[in-house]
Amino acid sequence: MARSMTPPGAATSTSIRQHLIDPETCIRCNTCESRCPSKAIRHERNYVVDPDKCNFCMKCVRPCPTGAVDHYFDLARPYSIDDQLLWIELPSELAVQAASETGNSESSRGNQIAPVSASNPPLNRYSRENPARAIVSSNTRVTGETAENDVRLVIFEFDETPFDFIEGQSVGVIPPGLDANGQPHAMRLYSVACPRDGEKPNAGNMSLAIKRIVWRDGLDREVRGVASNWLCDLRPGDAVDIVGPFGTDFLLPDDQDADLLMICTGTGAAPFRGFAHRRRRMWPNAAGKLMLIYGARTMEDLPFSQTLQKYTQAEFRRELAFSRAISGDRQYVQDRLRLCAPEILWLLRRPKSHMYICGLKGLEEGVDEALIDITRTHGINWLAFKSEMHVAGRYHVEVY
Ligand code: NAP
Repeated sequence: MARSMTPPGAATSTSIRQHLIDPETCIRCNTCESRCPSKAIRHERNYVVDPDKCNFCMKCVRPCPTGAVDHYFDLARPYSIDDQLLWIELPSELAVQAASETGNSESSRGNQIAPVSASNPPLNRYSRENPARAIVSSNTRVTGETAENDVRLVIFEFDETPFDFIEGQSVGVIPPGLDANGQPHAMRLYSVACPRDGEKPNAGNMSLAIKRIVWRDGLDREVRGVASNWLCDLRPGDAVDIVGPFGTDFLLPDDQDADLLMICTGTGAAPFRGFAHRRRRMWPNAAGKLMLIYGARTMEDLPFSQTLQKYTQAEFRRELAFSRAISGDRQYVQDRLRLCAPEILWLLRRPKSHMYICGLKGLEEGVDEALIDITRTHGINWLAFKSEMHVAGRYHVEVY
């Protein structure tokens, strides 16, 4: 199903605009519900939108990995939550309306557009009902021993069920057991952290980068994230069901001349690890440049710092920003961008440059502010420049 071209929220004087989720393409990952600031989205079997609460803020649209959430319709009477809970697909009258309003959404999600040269991504090969069975082959800590952050690189092998993916895609995992409401846990999405031919080339494996989430509640009790702790504690030989792959736009250009500017924090580096390994394996002498601006609290907290040292600065330029460094300057990625302004400008102006942002929610804002400052002195309007890159499939964001 393609997405609506008219602005969300707009409606004629005789109709009501309604935001709906397509149950057929929804993978029930819970991303939309967790992002909805007005609590308009909830789920039983289906994810549904309360027409009385949805204010079309669009906060759920970009993170949705399949585009199932990206549907708006002009209706004489809105569908109730009870109607939506019963659907197995969007009602046919909506399908007709969508078809008459929409354009091609093959390569875009939440308004994002894939690089023109990107390989065709395999999609939705395994569902919650029919997952791929993977066996853990290793689970290694990739942050320093003394770091507060426990980040793991977990490698999975697919012996029985081949699992294809390409760099930049994500996969779903479902923690075992039931949630507090007695329902199966919602699916969690993680970016693949290796190239399409696997951690070890052609060994039929795949890796994910997982950060153990632990926090203290209002009563100062320790609370442990269900999925992240389950994954971080997996041992070799454990079986895990994997769903997907998902993602049609945050992809690597299949072009060795493409220049990549990659900006990330923490485990947001996962897809860029796949990008860098792919480029190194395919085109060790590629003309295109790779530049990574990477933020963490300290050097010890920076995932994959050992692996990064395998690359020379000439083959893979890295600029690290540490926000809680014990000595030296405390910086965020946006500060690092400002310090590298000449190189950033040079890179962005290259005709085949691509920019990627991956990591924490809020990251894009700080990056925009830095790039507005960097480009202004050179007579460039960053927001207009970004918009041109975006339309050309050269600007990509994935934040959680
Ligand atoms: P983290 O270690 O908590 O933080 C990394 C650094 O980012 C810290 O230095 C932090 O500074 C800084 N930071 C915080 N807010 C920022 C902002 N608005 N702009 C710039 N820097 C900021 O990072 P993390 O927990 O690993 O987070 C990574 C994010 O990537 C998560 O949201 C995760 O969901 C997402 N992600 C994960 C994957 C995956 O496959 N695992 C894939 C894609 C994206 P402070 O000193 O202020 O804390």
